[in-house]
Amino acid sequence: MLPKPKKNRNVYLDHAATTAMDERVLKAMRPYFLEQFGNPSSLYNLGRTANRALASARATISAALHALPENIIFTSGGTESDNLAIYGIARAHQSRGQHIISTLIEHHAVLGPLADLKKDGWDITYAGVNKEGFVSADEIIKKIRKDTTLVSVMYGNNEVGSIQPIAEIGRAILKYRKENNTAYPYFHTDACQAAGALTLDVEKLHVDLMTINGSKIYGPKGAGILYLRRGVKIKPMILGGGQEKRTRSGTENVPAIIGLAEALKLAQADRIKEGDKQKKLCSMLWNEIQKKIPKVKLNGPEIGDGRLPNNLNVTFMDVEGEALLLYLDEYGVMCSTGSACTSESLEPSHVLMAMGLPYEYAHGSLRFTFGRENSLADVTYLMKYLPAIVEQLRELSPVSIGFKQHAKYKK
Ligand SMILES: *Cc1c(COP(=O)(O)O)cnc(C)c1O
Repeated sequence: MLPKPKKNRNVYLDHAATTAMDERVLKAMRPYFLEQFGNPSSLYNLGRTANRALASARATISAALHALPENIIFTSGGTESDNLAIYGIARAHQSRGQHIISTLIEHHAVLGPLADLKKDGWDITYAGVNKEGFVSADEIIKKIRKDTTLVSVMYGNNEVGSIQPIAEIGRAILKYRKENNTAYPYFHTDACQAAGALTLDVEKLHVDLMTINGSKIYGPKGAGILYLRRGVKIKPMILGGGQEKRTRSGTENVPAIIGLAEALKLAQADRIKEGDKQKKLCSMLWNEIQKKIPKVKLNGPEIGDGRLPNNLNVTFMDVEGEALLLYLDEYGVMCSTGSACTSESLEPSHVLMAMGLPYEYAHGSLRFTFGRENSLADVTYLMKYLPAIVEQLRELSPVSIGFKQHAKYKK
């Protein structure tokens, strides 16, 4: 018998899906909803105040990226930034070559536009990953052709936390361009999951475009940036009043932008300390899981420098991840299966599949992602219930039947 759920105890372990807003971020944003509501394009004082705030946010963000303020484009989030990077480059440079290189483990905000471009006749090459979820820089470089216009590789993977060799790929692309006397291919990285944990120095990473959003770093949802290196042309997707130097029209979401800048500043200032803390919690949870629950497997890289410090992805054999997630929710513990974005479908995660995980393993996987407010007490609380829940589910479900139901997804 399972113990009764404890009322009003919540443990949020899904920070890769989104984070709560930091009070300091909210405080910085508040005046721009109320007194300082001006349109940054208006010429009178109220507008100029908003415009100055915008400029200051841009300066804060560009400093965190070691970029110039004019390199920062504000958008409505990670999805828009990824779309703008891919469509923007594709449409501005299609006459010189219609080939893009990316990977099998990208976020859908990248995979979606790529699949769409393919329908328009673009050739897309996807690099695979190894068992741990790492892309090989060599493999990416080998795929470059004369008509390759863009390379897009994510920085930290949202499902298994594998950190990709962005600086190495960036350096190799620079070398390729030099040797071939060309400006192509451009290099984009989706850094949404990395922004709270890793360096965002665009000079060290050698990226031309970089996506960041607010919702994964204790900032506002629906706020994002696209870093665009000077001299790199993109075609805008949203046309209108010509804001953001004509690359992204629409009245700037001033409060969100202020919040995003504050959130990024805080996240980058604390990233080492927070990373260490969260990595410890991941290790403790994984150790406890191995001690108390048989037939488990870590998905992704081992806990350490190659893995986002807040990410733990575990397969519980002979259990449906979805069922486990819902049971845990009864106890106030929030986490996710394969990928939150596909929670409405029963398809196994494309990332776990790309890593070569057998179908049954992918289906029993849970992702726990830690955050600022978590502590050891959360691990203890979770481990009070998790072993019993797994045991119960294993007894209840004739798993082979469960898997057969989904057999049509088997490749
Ligand atoms: C969350 C996320 C996105 C999408 O960002 P939104 O702000 O939700 O549009 C894109 N890429 C990665 C890696 C993400 O984690």
